[in-house]
Amino acid sequence: MDLEYNKKNTWNILSDNEKDELEKLSKEYINFLNVGKTERLANEEIIRQAEEKGFISIDEAIKGEIKPGDKIYANNKNKGCALFVMGKAPISEGLNIVGSHIDSPRLDLKPNPMYEDGEMAYFKTHYYGGVKKYQWTNLPLALCGVAFDKDGNKININIGNKEDEPVFFITELLVHLSKDLNSKNAKDVIEAEQLNIVIGSKPIDEEKENPIKKYILELINEKYGLAEEDFLMAEIEAVPAQNAREVGFDRSLIASHGHDDRVCSFASLKAILGVENPNKTTVSLFVDKEEIGSVGNTGMTSNFFEDALMDIINANGNFNYVEYKHALANSKVLSADVTAAYDSTFKDAYELTNSATINHGVGVSKYTGSGGKGGSNDANAEFLAEVRSAFDKDGVNWQVAELGKTDQGGGGTIAYILAKYGMQVLDCGTAMLSMHAPVELVSKADFYETYRAYKAFFKNI
Ligand code: MN
Ligand code: MN
Repeated sequence: MDLEYNKKNTWNILSDNEKDELEKLSKEYINFLNVGKTERLANEEIIRQAEEKGFISIDEAIKGEIKPGDKIYANNKNKGCALFVMGKAPISEGLNIVGSHIDSPRLDLKPNPMYEDGEMAYFKTHYYGGVKKYQWTNLPLALCGVAFDKDGNKININIGNKEDEPVFFITELLVHLSKDLNSKNAKDVIEAEQLNIVIGSKPIDEEKENPIKKYILELINEKYGLAEEDFLMAEIEAVPAQNAREVGFDRSLIASHGHDDRVCSFASLKAILGVENPNKTTVSLFVDKEEIGSVGNTGMTSNFFEDALMDIINANGNFNYVEYKHALANSKVLSADVTAAYDSTFKDAYELTNSATINHGVGVSKYTGSGGKGGSNDANAEFLAEVRSAFDKDGVNWQVAELGKTDQGGGGTIAYILAKYGMQVLDCGTAMLSMHAPVELVSKADFYETYRAYKAFFKNI
């Protein structure tokens, strides 16, 4: 027995078969990233894949009796969902839950976005989540979302993601004229009101006022049947237009928008799609609004998950509050969210002994938060021990992952929200680089071990 602890590089311990599976799953993950660039699109893809594997909607499921082995999904307003595989054990013994989020930092269009200035037309934006604003300039952008025409028809907008479609662009001042700009703090280099997206420059008729904006409105009306007023109640997000790409001569990494938290979401999805007839009821939970504090009726603090659970318990007879409370209190959860991987270019922000490093397995964080663990869930040692045995049983490569040096910053997840019920909750997800940048970096091997970790959790807890 090794008395000294040394973490392992996943590439050194995978078998050839596992390496093949890793590449296959990475391809599927890249596809998921490309089709699911927003919470709505990711949710649609998750439900599509679930239905393909035999999951039925909760509205259908509760019409009859619910049996062990049944696969059920609940859709939360097209922005989040819960997948359940019913267990053999009574539900009051608790559920095994992996909870991730499918929203990512991005730029949302303002309610009244369109204007013309300096012979160009623009969309104004309002940033969503924690972004470094200057990173969103000089980058091809796509627009994804929904709008409603006057008759109440829902119009899906998705433009800029395909090669032959136009993209959109936020300008930044040329270096030649940046004397004043260069002396600003990084957070002030680009201000929120400067995140204006170029949407066109061609006038329709030189006699009219706002000829460029008017031409754009005509084109939008032709394509979508929408007028300017319809934007006032639309929900449209700007995301990087570029698709996910392999990185490195060895192709060992993936660069993409939205790894936070689609890497854990996809790992969780793949894990639950492989679950058949579990002992405990098994749940993959995909929530929205994590990046702005888990608020709103699609965020983790809403009662969506609790209501779905009540409906499921109620389907087989009268709802029993005690049974429901026990189901919650006895549940075990992996809060599946990304964490920071050690970045040697910025050594000073990390404490290497407790940081996750790329390719060294899924990251396990006893606590997150900031300062003196403020706002963190701080998992119990008893549960950590249980999760370690579940991982060890299947040879999952894992590592501890503290988010940088103490007092350097911090972050949170949905962990504390589920913990309030008495659930045992542990933060466990993929360590990554360039978190919250428009394009982020993840290792294929860490994605693969995250998938294997959630699979082992569902199987062995
Ligand atoms: Mn996250
Ligand atoms: Mn985040």
